Amino acid sequence: MGYSNVEWLAGIKKTRQRQSVLSVLEGSSVPLSAGDICAQVRKDGEKVWLSTVYRILELFVKKGIVTKISMLNNDFAVYEMNRFEHKHYAICLSCRKVVQMDNCPMEKFIPQLEDNDFYVTGHKVEIYGYCKKCNTQG
Ligand SMILES: [Zn+2]
Ligand SMILES: [Zn+2]
Repeated sequence: MGYSNVEWLAGIKKTRQRQSVLSVLEGSSVPLSAGDICAQVRKDGEKVWLSTVYRILELFVKKGIVTKISMLNNDFAVYEMNRFEHKHYAICLSCRKVVQMDNCPMEKFIPQLEDNDFYVTGHKVEIYGYCKKCNTQG
């Protein structure tokens, strides 16, 4: 069940633009870039600037509602609802399509660290290449 079905998020002022951004993210099964979200909000008939979408997204990320996934050395970021799942993605270098990975390459990996007492809480894995469509175009 999404946030739109419950009371509005505590501690966040409710605006139509924020609602629109959230409902776009809720309705998507794949992570979206700020540009994608902006285009979708506009398609739904709401006037919004890309800079506003970024500000809303940063707010949601800070509040833990939305997860930001940075890829390609932070050159590209996508956002998705924080569903508290452990997931990784691959990104197409040509069209920037984001493809979900079904497994975790780090699952059985034990890092050899100089600090034996280092307590590992998470990891990032970045896979990039060309999606089916881009790979067959030339
Ligand atoms: Zn592609
Ligand atoms: Zn993993």
